[in-house]
Parts: sequence; C-alpha cells; structure tokens
Amino acid sequence: MATDNAAESTTTYVADFMNKLVSLCKRRGIIFQSSEIYGGFNGFWDYGPNGAPLRRSVERAWWKYMVEDRDNVVGLDSTIICAPMVWKASGHVDQFSDQMTDCKDCKKRWRVDQLPVPGECPACGSHNLTEPRDFNLMMKTYVGPVFDEEHKAYLRAETCQPIFVDFNTIRVATRQKLPFGIAQTGKAFRNEINPRNFTFRSREFMQMEMEFFCEDEGSLDWFDYWMKQRWEFYTKVLRIPENKLRWHWHEKLAHYAKKAVDIEFEFPFGWDEVEGIHHRGTWDMSQHAKFSGEEAACSVFNPDTKESRFPTVVETSCGLDRICLMLLCNAYEEDTAATQKADKDEDIRVVLHLPARIAPVQAAVLPLSKKLEAPTRELQKALRAADIRTEYDDTGSIGKRYRRQDEIGTPFCVTYDFETENDNAVTVRERDSMQQERIAIAELPGYLLGRIHA
Ligand code: ATP
Repeated sequence: MATDNAAESTTTYVADFMNKLVSLCKRRGIIFQSSEIYGGFNGFWDYGPNGAPLRRSVERAWWKYMVEDRDNVVGLDSTIICAPMVWKASGHVDQFSDQMTDCKDCKKRWRVDQLPVPGECPACGSHNLTEPRDFNLMMKTYVGPVFDEEHKAYLRAETCQPIFVDFNTIRVATRQKLPFGIAQTGKAFRNEINPRNFTFRSREFMQMEMEFFCEDEGSLDWFDYWMKQRWEFYTKVLRIPENKLRWHWHEKLAHYAKKAVDIEFEFPFGWDEVEGIHHRGTWDMSQHAKFSGEEAACSVFNPDTKESRFPTVVETSCGLDRICLMLLCNAYEEDTAATQKADKDEDIRVVLHLPARIAPVQAAVLPLSKKLEAPTRELQKALRAADIRTEYDDTGSIGKRYRRQDEIGTPFCVTYDFETENDNAVTVRERDSMQQERIAIAELPGYLLGRIHA
C-alpha cells in the first residue's frame, strides 16, 4: 500500500512538473505544438521566438566544440532525402522497426518494449492486446511525377548515413588521413509509434552526429577518447551537473559492434538517453561498398601495408531536441524563498537557470521610465554590436519585467535609470543571485561578454 502511494505521488509530481514546463514553454514562446489551431499534430513541435535561439545556440556550441575547435573533424550539410538505396544498404528499409501492439478495448497503440507491465495496456489495464507486429519507422515520400513504388523515397531516419556515402569525396577534398571525423547536424524523421514526454520522442527532430574513421587497431582507444570528450561537452560546456548524468552500457550489441554506451540524463520521468556512443566496426562502409559497387569510395589505401581497408567507425550521436529538453528540465526552478526578500511582485519566482551562453536573451535592457527609451535603445545597439542577444522591455514595473526575463532564463537585466545621465553607469541585475551591481556603460559589453563566456 505504502509503495502504491509513493509510486502515485511520484507519478503526480512528474505530471505536475511536466505540465508546468510545457505550459511555461508555450506561454513564453519557447516550444509549442505544431499546427495548434488545427488541434496539433502528434509528435511535431515548433520552436518559438525564445526556443529557436536556444536550439540554435546549443547547435552552435556543439559545432564549435566538435568541428571548429578541432583539426581532425570536418563538417557536412547533406540533403534530407537521398537515393533510396542508401537506406536499403544501411538496413533501415528492412529492419528499422519497432514492435507495436493495439489495445482492443481502449484502442490505444503502444510500443511493445515500452509497456511497463508486459501484455497489459498502460491506459486502461486491459490484457486484450493484439499480437505484436513490426512497424517500420522510416517516413516515406515520392520523388518525381509518379506516385508508385519505383518513385518511393525516404526522409532520413538519422543524419549519419550521408556521412558514410560522402566519405571519400570529403576525404579527398580536405586531404584528411585516418584517423579523422565527419560531423553533421540536421533534421531526422521517424514515424514513432508513440511520441511522448514533450519533445523527448518526436517524429521530426534534430540530430548532431560525428562519425570518426580510424584503423581498427586503436579504435577502442578512440572510443574512450570520445566518451571523455562528450562527457565534457555536457558538464563543462552545457553545465549539466555530473550527478544528473550517467553512463548506460548496452548489453546486447550489434554483431559488428565492439562497444556501445549511452549518456543518460535524469529527466523528471526517469533516466533516459540523450546520446549514444557507438563502435560501428566496418559495417556501414562495407554495406555501402556492397550496395553501390564503389569499393574504392568506401575504403582507404594504407601506403605502409599497401592494402585497402574499410575504415572502422566510432560514432557520437545525440538529439538536439532532447538536449534542449534536458537543459529546460535542469534549469526550471520555482524559487519561493528568494522572492520574499527581494523583488516582491509575486510569491513564486519561476526561473530558468540556463547557462548564459545559450539563453535565448542574454541581456534585457530596461528603461526605468518610458521617457528613457532613446538612450536605452542606444545602449541596446552597443550590446547587439558586441554579439549579445538582447531584448528591450518598457512595460510594467521593474519587478514584473525581471519576472518575465527570469521565466525565459535571461541571465542579466540592465536597467537604465535617471542616475545614468549623471554617472554614465547602469544597474545590472543577475538572474541567479538577484544581486545588483552598478557598471559603467563603457565597460558594459566587455563585462557581460566576460560573464556570458566564463
Ligand atoms: P530510442 O531508443 O530512444 O528510440 P535510439 O537509440 O533509437 O533512441 P539513436 O538512433 O541512437 O536513438 O539516435 C541518436 C539520438 O537521437 C538519441 O540519443 C536521441 O537523442 C535522438 N533521438 C532518437 N530518436 C528520437 C526521437 N524520436 N525524438 C527525439 N530525439 C530522438
């Protein structure tokens, strides 16, 4: 009985937390359902004015960390639709499926491996489920004027396959030698049976993947190297606390893989995957050699051994939308204690403690009175010129404006007041501590940039 109550209160807490986060995201234009005026479209999400900059800056941080800051990783931006044979070779057309089952009583559809109690409908408790059957997750379309089998094509289910296909062109163009990596970010599509947990499992989402091509000897060292790098990305760049992350080793490995591990985050709904690091052996390159007949484009000549070999691949693969969801879950706080002392407008201060580097707005510029609009706009221009994302707001009390900025995670609010004309300084209020500091206007861009990129 006690366990039932504990389980029930956890379920209520999770639903409550997620409802609050989803409603904040909509209210503040961060993320909301696609096609909402038509009742929404299950598994599709739009990023609004405060969500688009968040997602873009996380993507930019990944690109800088994985590509721009390294000599041995280069970038690619491939098409979403490519020759259907690519997906035949990769095994997706024949094998990229999940098992699904339907509840004959309440008509809900489930992924078999996600049923909390095997053989039981999580919605109505019925045991009247259909036999599990395979369901292919590839999204299909037609290319050309005729809508028949021959013109069928697929939206990519992962961003990495074009990397394998373009491997040789990129290697030659960039004069890279093994070991080196190719990275790309972009949309991927999966016809998920049961999209859920806000954006965690969507049907259209963004991936950020890097395929590292190396000799088989030493590939496990590279695997360890990339594990360390990826952990550092989450903890140092995105500032996710170490205790909210863990490694999850795959027990069942694909026949070609030597190792596979996920990085999991403790979401309110439980520990779940944000990234996979996979040893893929020579599987992908040998499959593309077989299906395209272009063996030379899929292998590398070793001048020492005078042999051509398929490179071995170590992959790092993460979902940008899941990372954004992780950041939002980690950042959300209802702060009651602090508000009693400070700004006092409301009792609960809802605040997103997002890292300043990725916050949608990095500095809000607020004139104390509408009369101060002109000089405050000038100040905003100077901050924009320094590449700081800003927002101007002159409506409502300063306390209310702070609250609005707290809710979208703005790390700094800069107030231009009547004293500014005399002392050429502004008040900078910091989101997390709510401390206020007087900073000279001439030093403001440098001061903020220093704090944002600290
Ligand atoms: P899962 O087991 O959760 O379905 P997966 O193991 O199939 O995921 P991969 O194919 O390894 O996932 O994809 C790599 C990354 O892409 C995942 O770690 C995740 O961050 C992201 N991803 C995969 N599927 C989705 C989805 N439906 N919605 C959002 N992100 C996804």
